[in-house]
Amino acid sequence: MTEPTGARARQTYYWRVRNARTRAPAESAPRTWHIQPGHPGGAYCDLGHELDPPAHHTPTLLTRSRQSGRREQQEFRGGCLACDWEGPVHRGDGYGDGDNDAVEDAHDHAFPGWRTLPPITRVRDRWEIPQSRHRWVQLTSRYPEGWVDQGAPLVVWNRHHREAHAPPHARRPRYELRVDRPPRSRAEAPTDQGALF
Ligand SMILES: [Zn+2]
Repeated sequence: MTEPTGARARQTYYWRVRNARTRAPAESAPRTWHIQPGHPGGAYCDLGHELDPPAHHTPTLLTRSRQSGRREQQEFRGGCLACDWEGPVHRGDGYGDGDNDAVEDAHDHAFPGWRTLPPITRVRDRWEIPQSRHRWVQLTSRYPEGWVDQGAPLVVWNRHHREAHAPPHARRPRYELRVDRPPRSRAEAPTDQGALF
C-alpha cells in the first residue's frame, strides 16, 4: 500500500505499520512518515489527541528515517493537523538541523507572515512575559486578530545559531520559534540615526 498523505492520516498509518497491521514489517515503522514525538498529534504530546481535526490550520512536524548508503538519515517536513498540506523535505540531524526548517514551513502555511511578529529578545522573557498578564497583552496586542487563540507562535531571538524550536504543550499551546536576531545595523538603527544628528 502506498502511504497516505496528510499528518493525521500518516500518523494513523504509522501506528498500523508499527502494530503489524499492514504487510510492511513492524520494524520499518521508523521509515514511515510520522509525527515527531512531542509535537502536536504525535506520541508523548500532552496537547490532546482528539479525533476531529482542529478548525484552523495547526502546524506540526513530520519525520522519518531513510537508509542512505550505510548510515541512517533523518528527514523532516512540515505538516498540518487540519488539512493534508505537507511541506518540502529537509534532511538533517534534528535538534534544529532540518527540523527547524520544516517547522518554519508549517508556520508559513498556518500563520503566513509570522516572521514579522514582535520578537521576545531576552532569554528570561521567554518565561516572564507569558507569566505577566500585562506584558502578555502588550506583546500579543500586536498579533493579527484571532491568531493568539489559534496557537500562533512566540517568536524569540535564539541563544545560538539553529537553537531548536520548542513544540507546544498543554500549558503553552503554541510553538516557540527561535530565530536569528537581526543584524546589528537593523536592530539598532533608531539609536544610530539619533547619533547622526
Ligand atoms: Zn492546514
